[in-house]
Amino acid sequence: MTGRVVRVAVPRPLRGEFDYAAPSGPPPAVGARVRVPLGGSEVVGVVTGFAEASEHKLRQVCAVLDDAPLLPPDLIALAAWMSDYYHHPLGEVYATLLPGRARRGAAIEARWPLAWRVAQGAVPALGRAPKQRQAFEALREFNVPVPDAELAALGIDRRAVAALARKGLAERLELRPNYRLAPSPHTLNPEQERAASALSAAAGRHGAFVLQGVTGSGKTEVYMRAIAAALERRGQALVLVPEIALTPQALARFTARFGAAAALHSAASDKERLDVWLNCKRGVHRVLVGTRSAVFAPFANLSLIVVDEEHDESFKQREGLRYSARDVAVKRAQLLGVPVALGSATPSLATLANVARRRYRRLELGHRATGAALPSCHVIDVRGQRLRAGLSERLIATLRRHLNAGNQVLAFINRRGFAPVWLCADCGWQARCSDCDARLVLHAAPPPAGDAKPPETTRAPPADDPPSGGLRCHQCGRGYRRTQVCPDCGGAAFVAVGAGTQRVDRALRGLFPDVPVHRIDRDTARNPALAAERLRELGDGEAAILVGTQMLAKGHHLPGVTLVAVLDADAGFLSPDFRAPERTAQTIVQVAGRAGRAQRPGEVWLQSYDPDNPNLRALMEGGYAAFAAAELEQRRRAGMPPYAAMAVLRGESANGDAAQGFLRAAAARLRGSSGAGDIQVLGPAPAPLARRAGRFRYQCLALAGRRRALHAALAALAASGLKAANVRWSIDVDPYDAS
Ligand code: ADP
Ligand code: ZN
Ligand code: ZN
Repeated sequence: MTGRVVRVAVPRPLRGEFDYAAPSGPPPAVGARVRVPLGGSEVVGVVTGFAEASEHKLRQVCAVLDDAPLLPPDLIALAAWMSDYYHHPLGEVYATLLPGRARRGAAIEARWPLAWRVAQGAVPALGRAPKQRQAFEALREFNVPVPDAELAALGIDRRAVAALARKGLAERLELRPNYRLAPSPHTLNPEQERAASALSAAAGRHGAFVLQGVTGSGKTEVYMRAIAAALERRGQALVLVPEIALTPQALARFTARFGAAAALHSAASDKERLDVWLNCKRGVHRVLVGTRSAVFAPFANLSLIVVDEEHDESFKQREGLRYSARDVAVKRAQLLGVPVALGSATPSLATLANVARRRYRRLELGHRATGAALPSCHVIDVRGQRLRAGLSERLIATLRRHLNAGNQVLAFINRRGFAPVWLCADCGWQARCSDCDARLVLHAAPPPAGDAKPPETTRAPPADDPPSGGLRCHQCGRGYRRTQVCPDCGGAAFVAVGAGTQRVDRALRGLFPDVPVHRIDRDTARNPALAAERLRELGDGEAAILVGTQMLAKGHHLPGVTLVAVLDADAGFLSPDFRAPERTAQTIVQVAGRAGRAQRPGEVWLQSYDPDNPNLRALMEGGYAAFAAAELEQRRRAGMPPYAAMAVLRGESANGDAAQGFLRAAAARLRGSSGAGDIQVLGPAPAPLARRAGRFRYQCLALAGRRRALHAALAALAASGLKAANVRWSIDVDPYDAS
């Protein structure tokens, strides 16, 4: 029986819900949005329940915005869980969970999804409209109609599409998704068969599975079989991927297989996102692929969740509500009583620990599905060697061997720009950002704006000449002119120390003048979809060099690449962050996995100044499994996650003393809380980046052997209402960054 008092979660950093008097007329449903007065204004909140009476005089709900619940019960339960687990105000959890328009109170009306395709028999004459030509080709190449919401992810210019439509070259259609199963192009191999059967057999009840399959082992085929089983039972499936750039590819693959599919991510407009969201809710979309926040999409009958590349750090939101979409996905599957599959070639240590504790069940794919061999791995000891823009003679010879054979090579260096240090040759002074605790990175002059294609191959100047261009802070983005006179000694000679992608790019152009060089990093590919597009165009054609960062390691299929060169295998293993070795090993294995995917065998060469590093050796000698076992043992001995629960308390202020003072008080409360005997509180100490954009950052680390103890202490802290003027603070549960 619903009472006369309506309980509402309001989007304010306030703990707990607010009570309001019910409006006249029928009471709002749990999960519906209401407009309520709060202080001097009105806000949109979500009804979470009812109470019979209140001793206070209550203000009245102004308006009920939804006749039926906008949020299904599992999302209401999930929001409550997140608020508890992440110690985040419930109203703000809802604000994160709802699409922007819904959050702002927009009226909800479901429409059929709209999509674009090239007009039948259209013959383009677009010689002088490059954007339109590109859009036309992208639409045509995509094979299935491109949903409005995917234009941006595919790097297709909306205005160009509109222009094509005016010329009769493209048309817009209303999609009536028609799910039907096309046969798989592959017969699953026995490993895939076993994994797919285990997943399908789990339908209808909760179970968490880890699909641990080497790169190229055909994990997607396994997901598709499980999705097909879900669809056959009239259910819906949610597939989370780490990158927007990976959604078009997945969308095309799923559409080909299931007749339809939808995508949800932040490259779409607010309106498009809301449309997709609502069509999931009313069961129109039955297969949804999306990035992190798609874990909050509402479904009529969700029966399977897949998290692909579950180890990927982009599943963790690092501001506001600091949730892990992977962990939330597992929780949601549990609340719904449906299976969840976490796939990766390099599962996170947290996930492996859950396998060891028998909370998750592991399904293994040990071979590449195409029959291709896994690449062979070699370490080049670069101690005492002179490197040319980060390249040893041995590595250069290896690159040459592969290029001469007409193959493609990938040079991986996780640092963009020309050089990470700009240093006075006389006294050693280094250029630093005036607002951050960071060195400035030398960048070559940027290419002319609007240049989407890679620059033409030109003969490059020697790699040692610093390029024209300026210095840039990678933390706050601020640009600086290049220092000409040393502020310490007045000297005028400067050296660019170390190499980033630009320098490597330039050196490789000099070394291999006849081979095209493509650089893929955040500077050349602001739009990751365009980068993916460029990589697709590369195909397995002629010899080519790819230089790039992390961006190259993710999911892309690069059939022509036979050599992966990791220029600096050390930096990541030596970082003070306890998660750095894990992250580094994952990146190395993932980038190595780009090699030799097609018929030609692949090789991976890593340069190291520290070839005896135990992490590196474990990885080289026993692969990711050996590395993970050794690293887990280290973590266990050190009492670190996943063998302890961890949270970071961060405080940040323009006034360093204020931030530190606040954290000292917060730490004292944690130490003083009941059950504090089980908790270890470290700090406050300067955060890994102690000053950023002019603000000082401090942090405390809280560790507990039992999660419950940590959570009780954090809850007490959150409830205590502790605050300090001009200090922004946050609790980060299960942090991804902590030193
Ligand atoms: P993963 O996601 O595990 O890295 P994918 O699912 O992308 O791998 O599959 C890698 C390649 O193997 C794809 O080109 C896919 O079409 C192919 N493939 C998958 N399963 C089979 C199979 N059973 N037989 C032959 N090829 C397969
Ligand atoms: Zn100097
Ligand atoms: Zn800065």
